[in-house]
Amino acid sequence: MSDGPWAFDAWNELRPGPRFSLADLDTSATPGFSGGSTKAGHLLAEIGEATSDLQERLYAHGRSGGTRSVLLVVQGMDTSGKGGIMRHVVGMVDPQGVELHAFGVPTPEERRHHYLWRIRRALPLAGRIGVFDRSHYEDVLVVRVDRLVPPEEWEKRYDEINAFEDEVVGGGTTIVKVALMISHHEQYKRLHQRLERPDKYWKFNPDDVDSRAKWPAYQEAYQAVFERTSTDVAPWHVIPADEKWYARLAVSQLLWQALVGLDLDWPSAEFDVAEQLARLEATGT
Ligand code: AMP
Ligand code: MG
Repeated sequence: MSDGPWAFDAWNELRPGPRFSLADLDTSATPGFSGGSTKAGHLLAEIGEATSDLQERLYAHGRSGGTRSVLLVVQGMDTSGKGGIMRHVVGMVDPQGVELHAFGVPTPEERRHHYLWRIRRALPLAGRIGVFDRSHYEDVLVVRVDRLVPPEEWEKRYDEINAFEDEVVGGGTTIVKVALMISHHEQYKRLHQRLERPDKYWKFNPDDVDSRAKWPAYQEAYQAVFERTSTDVAPWHVIPADEKWYARLAVSQLLWQALVGLDLDWPSAEFDVAEQLARLEATGT
């Protein structure tokens, strides 16, 4: 895709191929971009404007009976920058058109249901951009790493998730799955920073250190996610995220591409425009 604010086909370039290995990913790389954070900031603002226009079109489409929607699924280890994506990327579009859901440890009620129950309830309405801060993928990530269910249980979830997403896409939703990947050392630096600054203590969770201690198991679980759930209908996009500005740029480009892909026109008027103009004139200028 070359027509647009950033001539980079993030959709295809950031997809993990058949031989993708997370262990070999350079998380400090900035694929498709040669400038620094300042240039990226300007570009982000441009993409934001283009995205905002398209989102309004999507919203209008939903209001006039259309069935399309977009779902942005954001995954990543603690400190990988999920919150920044919410603020800097999702924050660029009209909040009226966005439905944001953060998924934490399941509540007692959620626990009584199938793991996809809470996910289904959070799917975006027609015309909206749904955003998941963590998602059903936690059910094959933390659940697998912490052995919250037996292996035969999580093992069958990959196929189940693929079938579920296929159904969601079939219903008119474009799914954009992004995984923000940072290095072990970058996470150390970010956690350390949270412990250095009183204004960052609130972001620190002692559990994050426990998760960090299981880094190799998480890398393995993410690798399995990419191998088994990056389908043609709902591919993954692996984002090198040591540079926060790059991750934001890449995710905003992906969201923009998804909206362009909807190829929506403005809904036509459901009234006679000439007649309404005449009525308006009749009321005086
Ligand atoms: P945070 O995103 O930092 O607010 O943390 C949310 C926490 O909820 C993380 O530690 C996740 O691993 C955890 N979590 C999310 N979904 C699940 C799930 N299905 N089962 C268990 N823990 C989960
Ligand atoms: Mg956390």
